[in-house]
Formats: sequence, C-alpha cells, structure tokens
Amino acid sequence: MAKNKVKYIFITGGVISSLGKGIAAASIGLLLKSRGLRVTIQKFDPYLNVDPGTMNPFQHGEVYVTDDGAEADLDLGHYERFLDVNMTKNNNATTGQIYFEVISKERRGDYLGATVQVIPHITDEIKRRFETLARTGEYDVIIIEIGGTVGDIESLPFLEAMRQFMYAQGKKNAISVHVTLVPYIKAAGEIKTKPTQHSVKTLLEIGIQPDILICRSEAPLTREVREKIALFTNVDVNSVVDAHDVSTIYEVPLQFAKEETDEIVLDKLDLTCPKPDLKDWKKFVDRVKNPHGSVNIGVCGKYTEHQDAYKSIAESFVHAGAANNVKVNLAWIRAEDLERNGAATYLQDLSGLLVAPGFGERGVEGKIAAIKYVREKNIPFFGICLGLQCAVIEFARHACGLNGANSTEFDRKTAHNVIDLMIEQKKVTAYGGTMRLGSYPCKITKGTKTHRAYKKELVHERHRHRYEVNNAYRDILMQHGMVVSGICPTNDLVEIIELPDHPWFVAGQFHPELRSRAVNPHPLFRDFVKVAMEYRESHLD
Ligand code: GLN
Repeated sequence: MAKNKVKYIFITGGVISSLGKGIAAASIGLLLKSRGLRVTIQKFDPYLNVDPGTMNPFQHGEVYVTDDGAEADLDLGHYERFLDVNMTKNNNATTGQIYFEVISKERRGDYLGATVQVIPHITDEIKRRFETLARTGEYDVIIIEIGGTVGDIESLPFLEAMRQFMYAQGKKNAISVHVTLVPYIKAAGEIKTKPTQHSVKTLLEIGIQPDILICRSEAPLTREVREKIALFTNVDVNSVVDAHDVSTIYEVPLQFAKEETDEIVLDKLDLTCPKPDLKDWKKFVDRVKNPHGSVNIGVCGKYTEHQDAYKSIAESFVHAGAANNVKVNLAWIRAEDLERNGAATYLQDLSGLLVAPGFGERGVEGKIAAIKYVREKNIPFFGICLGLQCAVIEFARHACGLNGANSTEFDRKTAHNVIDLMIEQKKVTAYGGTMRLGSYPCKITKGTKTHRAYKKELVHERHRHRYEVNNAYRDILMQHGMVVSGICPTNDLVEIIELPDHPWFVAGQFHPELRSRAVNPHPLFRDFVKVAMEYRESHLD
C-alpha cells in the first residue's frame, strides 16, 4: 500500500441539490476506513458566510461544532457518525473564509502590487486548503466534497481549483466521483438518463472527466440504463454505481459495498488493501432495520418544522434506539404551540421528552411548561443546552419558589438571573465565532445517573452557547434537591444537572448529540431511551 502519497477523491453533485453527496462521501470513507486506510473528509461550501454559525437553522439546518470549536456544516456530522473520526476546523471551508484570507493578504500587501484575481489567487487558496489535511501526515486518503450543484455560478472557483489540482496530482492520485440523479418518470414508466448526461457535459466543459458516477434513483438501475449512461459520459460501465433509495442512510455503505464501489475506487487510485471489515456496521444496520418494538419520545424545540435543524439529535436517537433494540418514534413539538395549547395535549402519551437547544425568547415559556409537566408526572426528561437552562429556570420558579426566575437572555431585569452571561461573554459585541465553543472537560459526580451512564469520572463534551448556570444560585438549587452531576473543572461551571427522586431527569449544558456515533452511541441518549422504554412498559402498555 502506497503510504507515502496521499490520494484524493473529489465528490461533486449534479442535477439537483439534496442528493446525499455527504452520505455518499461518508459511505465511501467508511468502506475505505474499514479496509485499514486512514481516511478523512473535507467539505467546501460555496456560500459567502465565513461559517454557518450566523445562519438561521430554518435555512441551513443545524450548525455542527467540532472539538476544536469550529462552527461547521452539518455534513461534518455525517462524516463523524459514519467514520467515527473527529473532524477539525480544517475539515470545512467556505467561499467566505477563502475570500477573507485572500483579501486580508491583499490588505497586508502580501501580493506585492499584483492584481488579485479569482484565478489564480482564489483558486490557489482553495488548492492550499485541499492540501492542509494531507500535510498533517495522518491520512492515506482525503475525500473532498464540493458543496452545491455543478452548474451553479458560485461553485465554479472550486471546480476550477479541483481541475488544476487533479491534473497536477496525476491520474492515479486523484479521482472524481459525481453524484447524480437518474429520475423515474411515472407517467412514462421510464428511467431517464438525460439529466445525468447534461450534468456530466457541464463538468466536461469545465475540464473534469468523472471517473465514477453515483446514480441516485428511486428504483434499481437496469444493465441497459447503466450502459447508456456509460456511453454518453465516457465512464466505465462498472463505474456507474446504482444508488437507489434505501430505507436508512446507514445502509448506503452496504449498498456501495455490494456495488463494489470501494474496489473501483482502490483500482483507480492504484491502492491494494484487505477486504473491508463491516461486521459492527452490519450489526448496527440490522438493528436499525429490525427493531423489537418502538417507543415514542417528544422533541420540543423552536425550529421543529425544519428537522435538519436537529439533525444530530435525530441521528443520536437512531443510534441509541439500535443500542436498545427499539425504534424511537420522535414527536416534534413546536414550543410555541405547546405554550398556547398546554403541555398535556402534546405530552400525555409520550414516554420521554427532550427539550432541544436554541436561541432567543420565542417558545421558551412553552419549553418551561413542558418541563414542569414531565418533572411532576415523572416522565423521563433529557435537556440539551437551552433545555438545561429551561430546566433550571423551571426548578428555580416552581421548586425553589424564586418567582420570576429567568435567563438574562430572555429577561434582562429578572429578579433571579439563574442563567446569566459569564464575564467574558459580557464583553463580546460581534456575533460570529464568539460563543463558548468546542470541547471542554467535564468532571462527573459519582453515584449519579449521569455517572451510571458514562461509567467514567472525566468526559469531554462540545459546547455552543453564551449563557451559563449562575453559580450564585447553585446552593439554593441544591438545597431543593437538584444535583449537579457534572462540572467543568477548569472554570467551575455547571455542566450537568439531575433530579435524584425522578426516574430520569438529566440535562447537559453541552451538546451530547455531537458525539454520538452509529456504532458508538452516546451514553446519555442510550440511557434516556432505556428509561423511556421502562416508562412505556409500566405506564402506557
Ligand atoms: N441560547 C442559549 C445560550 O446561548 C442556549 C444555546 C444553545 O442551546 N445552544 O446559552
């Protein structure tokens, strides 16, 4: 195996967006990793925002956070969940970052009087970033996903940089995989190849010949369809991969393995390595596809109409469900609706409630009402970030008698600022990249439900928030029965709380959903699903 030369796989998308390029990249990555190769995936996003941190989740879905504190595209979540490898800030770049870098250099005078242009200056900066991860010496294969759809104006500089880079790397060192749509037209009863032909022609105009086509379709591709696509695109017929719809995204790597996509990739990159070991993955997929029963859990949040806003939470429940041999049915509850119609309407038939992370005042009173309901009715509860903050507010108001307790995010003049900004955050004026971000240590209190879940005394979890539990209220919360089961040892901030005399009432200031992996579920999600199943058995069956 050629260990010295890093190999590159570029992934582009054609015809329409949302074809699952990220899942395709993650699936190829998993197959190569399970053959012993050291693989990572990098995503290039064509928008002008420096990162998605300032974007509305309604538009862009969840903001993913890496250990090193980057606010990144949610595809990085798929990469981590499939590969079980940690991403870094170097795994995601946007047009905004690239221009920011080039313009900063220009302002410093680094270009020595040259006219600064898209080609070569922007494309050079893109190419420099293609090589950043290779330079660490930690990888054999780097998969690079180019966001957007071929033909978009904004992705042109990336495709031009890719063309130049592939040519410089040479044929056996960099390949191009194009994910495309092969639609089935019901009225004609036929599969259509023309959109794919056009999309490949657009790539060819830019000077990129795809080596492999991943064909997304509703139904399996026939031999004739594959041959027709191959003929029109100069792609070997065995490199036209059938990627028809499957019941779970986690099955895609197995579908690709059946199509021998990994063999084709290795052959084109001149790599030889052992057969993939997919034992654990197959076991996981089998559990996802064949659960023994189901459990209904509510997720109360602000952006529930757009489920990509909670992508990692939904996936964490798939992992935790598989670990418990059960299918978790999620009931998405809009916090504002619950505020208007009362908690019982939404929660009485559920076996658990998760209160989701979020920003801003809208719907917060609904979340607090939901938490009061499940606390009093002994329904399992899991709070994440804002979910923890709401749980503390609810407990302060209704168990400690602190009337009007609130977070200063929602009521600056509250009589009891049980949730407040820390000193460092009070000085912040800019929005981008200024929250408490990334991985922090958390010391777990022994003898708690949290400790029973983690089975460890020190864990690391990822953060993305400005507000914290106000330590001035810690004693009064504890006197009334709240237990602080996790503390950040470096700054003495409350990380996890729980209620010992409740079947399972646990909340974390961090985002456990960002550390759950397909074959390695997060312990708090796993235990939450387990107690929800117990609740269902004793109350609802
Ligand atoms: N808005 C809250 C804060 O900034 C919670 C953030 C979150 O849930 N991620 O602290």
